[in-house]
Amino acid sequence: MATKGKRHTHKYYKAKSNYQRIWACALPDCNHHMPPHYETLVHGKATICWKCDGPMVLDAEALAMDKPICPDCRGENDIAAYLSERGVINPISGR
Ligand SMILES: [Zn+2]
Ligand SMILES: [Zn+2]
Repeated sequence: MATKGKRHTHKYYKAKSNYQRIWACALPDCNHHMPPHYETLVHGKATICWKCDGPMVLDAEALAMDKPICPDCRGENDIAAYLSERGVINPISGR
């Protein structure tokens, strides 16, 4: 898994810098960041899921999130939304 020149998989998130958003690595020892016009380069890069801490690839959906989560975690959300829609679980109490 270890590759030359890289110590870790960057954990990308959208950071606010001045008036623009940049893709930055959230890990404490890392200063890696990408200016917004490099978003096409961020697309397809490996990152760490903010929900399960598993490895994932930044796809178009992930790029729309401030703190990207992997397709597996998104799937869980879909199931929860589906179940609440069907009245199986009720996210709002008191109704
Ligand atoms: Zn990093
Ligand atoms: Zn995940």
